[in-house]
Amino acid sequence: MNILILPGDGIGPEIMAQAIRVLEKFKTEGLPITLTHGLLGGAAYDAHGHPYPDATQKLAHAADAIMLGCVGGPKYDTLPRAMRPEQGLLAIRKDLKLFANLRPAMLYPELAASSSLKPEVVAGLDIMIIRELTGDIYFGQPRGRRTNAVGEDEGYDTMHYARSEVERIARVGFETAMKRNKKLCSVDKANVLDTSILWREVVTEMGKSYPQVELSHMYVDNAAMQLVRAPKQFDVIVTGNIFGDILSDEASMLAGSIGMLPSASLDANGKGLYEPIHGSAPDIAGQNRANPIATILSMAMMMRYTFARADIAQRIETAVRSVLATGLRTGDIALPGEPVVGTQAMGDALVSAL
Ligand code: NAD
Repeated sequence: MNILILPGDGIGPEIMAQAIRVLEKFKTEGLPITLTHGLLGGAAYDAHGHPYPDATQKLAHAADAIMLGCVGGPKYDTLPRAMRPEQGLLAIRKDLKLFANLRPAMLYPELAASSSLKPEVVAGLDIMIIRELTGDIYFGQPRGRRTNAVGEDEGYDTMHYARSEVERIARVGFETAMKRNKKLCSVDKANVLDTSILWREVVTEMGKSYPQVELSHMYVDNAAMQLVRAPKQFDVIVTGNIFGDILSDEASMLAGSIGMLPSASLDANGKGLYEPIHGSAPDIAGQNRANPIATILSMAMMMRYTFARADIAQRIETAVRSVLATGLRTGDIALPGEPVVGTQAMGDALVSAL
């Protein structure tokens, strides 16, 4: 288990320190873990003048999996676009061909009151959203600005998916559903878009190879509505880049706190970049106030998806659940008036729960 640690910026180093304690615990139990350390984002720009420097690139290619904290911060906002921390993140995803983004939206029953939806609608929620990450309108050519026939300035983008791109993300969807409750909902806009008509055809054809999976299709506008109306109807959702971008942010809010949600971005061979969905939280950086749980749950995903150690993943998830059940809360998940603990104390509790 050759794991590259990229703490990043802002609260990144604080939350990653707690994740490393969990990895060290497993190492003492005999897991063959080797950690290497590198820089990404603003920290990399400060040290090497680039958000994804060559040194990090070499380490990333050599690793089996990468744990990332988060990148960005006001200090870097005035840099030219290519040097911004977020460009480092886009560059590493592209460089490693991480085409499948897995984002669970789950809500521990103990935190049901912190969702903006009614507790009965969201308690026990457990959805996996699979978003295609390297194609679609974000990358389609041609794109740009031009002057049209009547002399007006216009912008244009191209939505685009090739059959093979749909097949490989759909396969991740079906395989993930097989490991869960065997329900897959493919989200598209096949009533309007040709790209979506192809998408639906390909997913339907692939469904024949997965007879155990109950496959459904939904238009993206309806999916956006159903996610807030009755989110527990979903098990696994698979969708394209732009629809997934929007729906996964919507779904993350069902779960209450941004400090709880992990993510994985995988290549075709199971190599992955694992990171919390939140940003670098400059408003609380360096104050021992950040919630490390999203990062630690990202590590659980790494154990499950890259290292095929669902047993270890479950131990981490159970530890999180038991710590929450004792009532321990960082500021982001505490209800008004509830006592709050810091990043370090949450890490202590998780390590001892393990
Ligand atoms: P953010 O996610 O950093 O913060 C939003 C709010 O959530 C803040 O109030 C913050 O304090 C809180 N928060 C976030 N993570 C938390 C945690 N673990 N525990 C407790 N509270 C937490 O989003 P933002 O403020 O819009 O962005 C800040 C910087 O992060 C920007 O530079 C942005 O570009 C960058 N960003 C990076 C990523 C990434 O690295 N993947 C993602 C989003 C934003």
